[in-house]
Amino acid sequence: MEYKKDTKCVQAGYTPKNGEPRVIPIVHSTTFKYDSSGKMSKLFDLESEGYLYSRIQNPTCDYVAAKICALEGGTAAMLTGSGQAANFIAVFNICGSGDHVVCSSEIYGGTYNLFAVTMKRMGIEFTFVSPDCDDDTLKAAFRPNTKAVFGETISNPSLTILDIERFAKAAHEHGVPLIVDNTFATPINCRPFEWGADIVTHSTSKYMDGHATSIGGAIVDSGKFDWTEYPDKFPGLTMPDESYHGVIYTEKFGLEGAYITKATAQLMRDLGAIQSPMSAFLTNIGLESLHVRMPKHCENARLVAEFLNNHEKVSKVNYSGLPGSKYYNLAKKYMPEGTCGVVTFSLKGGIEAAEKFMAGLRLAAIVTHVADARTSVLHPAATTHRQLSEAELIAAGVTKDMIRLSVGIEDAEDIISDIAEALERI
Ligand SMILES: *Cc1c(COP(=O)(O)O)cnc(C)c1O
Repeated sequence: MEYKKDTKCVQAGYTPKNGEPRVIPIVHSTTFKYDSSGKMSKLFDLESEGYLYSRIQNPTCDYVAAKICALEGGTAAMLTGSGQAANFIAVFNICGSGDHVVCSSEIYGGTYNLFAVTMKRMGIEFTFVSPDCDDDTLKAAFRPNTKAVFGETISNPSLTILDIERFAKAAHEHGVPLIVDNTFATPINCRPFEWGADIVTHSTSKYMDGHATSIGGAIVDSGKFDWTEYPDKFPGLTMPDESYHGVIYTEKFGLEGAYITKATAQLMRDLGAIQSPMSAFLTNIGLESLHVRMPKHCENARLVAEFLNNHEKVSKVNYSGLPGSKYYNLAKKYMPEGTCGVVTFSLKGGIEAAEKFMAGLRLAAIVTHVADARTSVLHPAATTHRQLSEAELIAAGVTKDMIRLSVGIEDAEDIISDIAEALERI
């Protein structure tokens, strides 16, 4: 029987056998013992399943990955050391030097730098298109060497909603998968696979952990994209891997396992960007209450957005849960139960007023982080998006005076009083 998402948050991924620990064990061991060298060799050849070395795979990480996989409705998943590592590995697993990716321009600043600067240096080119662009513009962005399309369900921090169905259709018409970063929505509010996405990534550092304790990431495969239909496009999956004695991932592990097995056996082995078992353990504690926290984040954010929307000192509020929002209809379609706890807004007094406002907050803290239990606030253009040029800021949907408020799960009245008082103090 397939359990509902609330049950999966609490129980999926780990089922102890007789006499085993009730809670996911923290396997803090770099290495694993075998009775014979021969048994170990089989693991090195990917001939049998098991653990060798925690740079590649670790049981604690795998239990947590299995929970996230169940929540997203995928066939295979892996944890990574950060959200950045997840997005890098998700793309690099199917792209190399000379390849090209179509990407939404409204994405997290760190992901933008990773793609536009660092991966460009590795010979992978990205064409950034507005998530709101028309179909012709989207089509025109593809090239013969395009290997993937990338976007964020709800973009950080511009809060644009990706029309997942439309982007998936365009990707599939060009024979490539759609990769969706589902960090802000979480599988509680949106499951991109149900709308045609092929691979989902997460920064588990955000709502999944939810308590700002652990940096981490995850990659989930839907198992639906047929790499073998385009063998020349994805030789890494459909041709022999010389570093594993010629294994062909799609042949040996099927569509349901090929992508994640390659990313684990090859890229984790070589890049070593795995999550620590302790972080995975803490992330799991967060996951156990994700389904309880997300509705509260959404409800508090809606109340805050409504308050700001009616305040005379506020010039603009961006929250897709507000009926006037440009993304209201897309939000209703993809996230009928709510989007996330992040609200952005601008003040009539511009950047100067924004700085005074932030300094005047008592309950909400100024932190880089977003999406945890405590209400927090950030000025993106001066901090997380500081490296972006003015043109890049506009493309990313970040105005210079934008304030990003990550609404926590405290009492909404206290959060709103804090905001009201800080607005008074300007
Ligand atoms: C934070 C974030 C990332 C990066 O995740 P880290 O865990 O900080 O490396 C990627 N995508 C989105 C949407 C994010 O908010």
